[in-house]
Amino acid sequence: MSFAVLEETSRQIERIGRIGARVFRVHACIVVLQDDYQAHVLSKGAVSIEESFCTSLPIPAALTVVSDAHIDEALREHRFVADAPRIRFYAAQPIYNSDQIAIGSVNLVDYLPRIFGKEDQQLLIDLAALVERELHLQSISASQLDLQKKNKNLRRKSLIDPLIGTWNRGAIMRILTIEAVRCDNAGIPLSLIVADLDHFKKINDTYGHPAGDAVLVKVASRLRSCIRPQEALGRYGGEEFLIVLPGSSHDTAMAVAERMRLAVAMQPESIDDAPLGLTISAGVSSTEFFPSATTEELISRADIALYAAKNAGRNRVAPAMPDPS
Ligand code: GH3
Ligand code: MG
Ligand code: MG
Repeated sequence: MSFAVLEETSRQIERIGRIGARVFRVHACIVVLQDDYQAHVLSKGAVSIEESFCTSLPIPAALTVVSDAHIDEALREHRFVADAPRIRFYAAQPIYNSDQIAIGSVNLVDYLPRIFGKEDQQLLIDLAALVERELHLQSISASQLDLQKKNKNLRRKSLIDPLIGTWNRGAIMRILTIEAVRCDNAGIPLSLIVADLDHFKKINDTYGHPAGDAVLVKVASRLRSCIRPQEALGRYGGEEFLIVLPGSSHDTAMAVAERMRLAVAMQPESIDDAPLGLTISAGVSSTEFFPSATTEELISRADIALYAAKNAGRNRVAPAMPDPS
């Protein structure tokens, strides 16, 4: 259970204890809960005598009132009753969980005997009901928090590529759609990079698929190091990446792509101590040159540029340029 939820419950229960002591004008009003429910011990310091007394007694089966402990069959032998501090008055109402199982009690302790009439008894029952309500709220907040966490994880999982930890294809496409609208409204350019590993099949064929996977993870992390927080990197296909650069001009996108190319090419990786000549090729397109292009067209333009980069010998970046007319 979350610490914040426990802490809040603990504070509420302490408040109820303080109200109880004040309303009944007794020396102490102690809320005792079984270990599983003992949220309030979190913020507690030393245990008082009255608390030791209450926790030494079994959870009462029903409302229990001992007007004078010194003449009570069950309590008069208790060491806190028979000897100092000589507790005289004791009353307790069980606290029930949602299954109607008693899981604790609200206890009143004082050093003078007293008459505890019907109204007092009802008030003590009410006080216990407040604690029950608090515990109920605690369990609701805890399960809500738990659900929120699970939802968040699920949402994350549905957007993130499990192997390389970048946005997956669906997510990067959604980002692209959203950014295209935003950039259009703001009157700023939107640029794209499509990057693909060169001769990646050879790495798989030579070193095996798991080694290929490890290389993909490393390349993704290099590419990520080349972009800023407002830019997005996604896995578009097997070993193909889509990078969305909102607000970037065509030239800036070309520069980012070049930085990515160098980040991969300039730091050789190795598998089993064998150096790997790892490179990428990339195609760049921008609304700067294709102002009325749909997102699909922009991707297709960048793809064609990528294809040109591959044909021109790989390990290079190619721009998508409008047809001269
Ligand atoms: P090119 O330079 O023309 O891009 O050559 P290439 O070998 O990289 O291109 P091709 O499309 O022929 O092969 C891509 C390979 O990428 C084939 C496929 O097995 C591999 N691949 C795709 N996804 C993964 C993956 O998740 N893990 C691994 N290890 N390999 C993958
Ligand atoms: Mg490839
Ligand atoms: Mg490919």
